[in-house]
Amino acid sequence: MAAVTPTTTPSTWSDEELAEVRGRLQEEIDALEADIHRHETEIASGDVTQGAGDDQADAGAKTYEREREIALTLNARDLVAQNERAIARIDAGTYGVCESCHKPIGKERLQAFPRATLCVACKQKEERR
Ligand SMILES: [Zn+2]
Repeated sequence: MAAVTPTTTPSTWSDEELAEVRGRLQEEIDALEADIHRHETEIASGDVTQGAGDDQADAGAKTYEREREIALTLNARDLVAQNERAIARIDAGTYGVCESCHKPIGKERLQAFPRATLCVACKQKEERR
């Protein structure tokens, strides 16, 4: 039986590798959605703080706390959207291609940052703006 020689180049993804990345992204979405649900519950329950007894500082702290929860939720929603986009790209067969210059992003970078849509060079350009 002849051994199968791997002929893949560093920027080529096997089905197994793509499935693994897809699984990681999906797991993260599930965890983030659980987080979002928890924050939303906290935001909703924090809504009923009106009435006697609250001094100004207390109300301020509650507003801050509520705004922080909202910011965390928005951030988590943003990550979910990015992960969903990465999964859509895997399904469409365009995963790993830079959205700006259309060159391969590089496997190492994607294994570290599975939701990256830009190669290192384009990402640096974007950050410099
Ligand atoms: Zn690029």
